[in-house]
Amino acid sequence: MMVCNVLSIPLARSSAGSFAQMARSAVQATRGVQVPKVALDEPPLTIHTLGDAVLRTPAKRISKVDESVRDLARDMLRSMYSAHGIGLAAPQVGVHKQLLVIDLDPENAATPPMVLINPEIGSFGAAIETYEEGCLSIPGVYLNVVRPAAVEVTYRDEMGRPQRVKADGLLARCIQHEMDHLNGVLFVDRVTDELSLNEGLQEKGFQRADVHSIR
Ligand SMILES: [Zn+2]
Repeated sequence: MMVCNVLSIPLARSSAGSFAQMARSAVQATRGVQVPKVALDEPPLTIHTLGDAVLRTPAKRISKVDESVRDLARDMLRSMYSAHGIGLAAPQVGVHKQLLVIDLDPENAATPPMVLINPEIGSFGAAIETYEEGCLSIPGVYLNVVRPAAVEVTYRDEMGRPQRVKADGLLARCIQHEMDHLNGVLFVDRVTDELSLNEGLQEKGFQRADVHSIR
C-alpha cells in the first residue's frame, strides 16, 4: 500500500477563536455530507460502465453549491460505499456536473469523505509513477497507469468553500483518475500495455473498441 500524505489548506482564513466562527463551524459540521459507510442492497444511483456514452460526455461546472449538490454527493457516497469503491465522479452516475467524492478510508466511520466541486489542477509534481488502477465503471479490470506522483488541486468543498490540497500517493492517483472522468476520459485510455489491456477487457466482457487510447 502506498503512503498517502495529504495537506489541506483552507484558502478563506477567518478570525481565529471568535465565537461567531465557532458557531458557524458547528452548523457547517452538522450540514456535512457524511453518510453511513455501508453497502446498501439498493444503492440510490446506477453506476454506468465502459461502452456507455454518458462516460464520454464532459461535465459542466457547478455554479452554485446548494442542498441539491450536497444531496447528489450523499447519494454518490452511498452508491460508492455500496460498490466498495474509494472514488466516484458524477458522470459515472450519468450526471454531467464537476463533482467528485473520494474516501480513502472507507472502513473507518470517523474519517470524513472528500467532496471536490469544480476541481482544477494547479500543478503536477515532476516525478511520474506507475500504479495499478481499477474503476467502478470497468469492474474487475485492474491495469497499470503512468501518472504524475503528486498534484496540487483547487476546488470547492460541499459547503462551497474554496480549498487547496497538495496530494501525493494514493490521493494524488485517485484525484487524477476521478478528474479524468469529468473530461470523459477513462483509465483504460491511458494504459500503454496493449496486451494486458486486451486480455483484461476480454476477461470481463468489455470491448476494446470502447477504449479511446490517448497515449
Ligand atoms: Zn473511474
